[in-house]
Amino acid sequence: MIQKERTLSIIKPDAVSKGIIGAIISRFESSGLLIVSAKMLQLTTDQVLEFYNEHKNKFFFKDLMEFMISGPIFVQILEGNYAIRRNREIMGNTDPMKALAGTIRFDYGESCTKNVIHGSDSESSAKYEIAYFFDI
Ligand code: UDP
Repeated sequence: MIQKERTLSIIKPDAVSKGIIGAIISRFESSGLLIVSAKMLQLTTDQVLEFYNEHKNKFFFKDLMEFMISGPIFVQILEGNYAIRRNREIMGNTDPMKALAGTIRFDYGESCTKNVIHGSDSESSAKYEIAYFFDI
């Protein structure tokens, strides 16, 4: 059965500064995920606090905050069959050392924090995150 979905993807500051936006987008497109909207911006501390609110009391939050405000990000809406799950598969594990070979985080991730990419992890977070960044 076909279940067309939309999910939010963020190419994080480490990947933008390495000049690998194109390489990452190619992986989405060659996996059948369409980019239906995209923009570049730099997050403020307030935005990171809001966007990653569920993590605000975790031990890694300070590192995550510093990293996410450190430079521009590339935010996009991906659309496709089971896009939410498919995108998570293409991304790989949060920890690049545990990610499967061939995933984006395996190939480009440096650490649990500098892990290249964000992707919504459920239908409800995809809805919230898309609405957070886009008016569509
Ligand atoms: N993170 C971190 N250290 C950790 C776990 C997570 O710095 O030990 C950061 C990392 O950038 C990750 C983000 O916090 O992508 C959100 O964590 P989550 O567990 O939601 O992982 P994701 O859904 O991004 O795989």
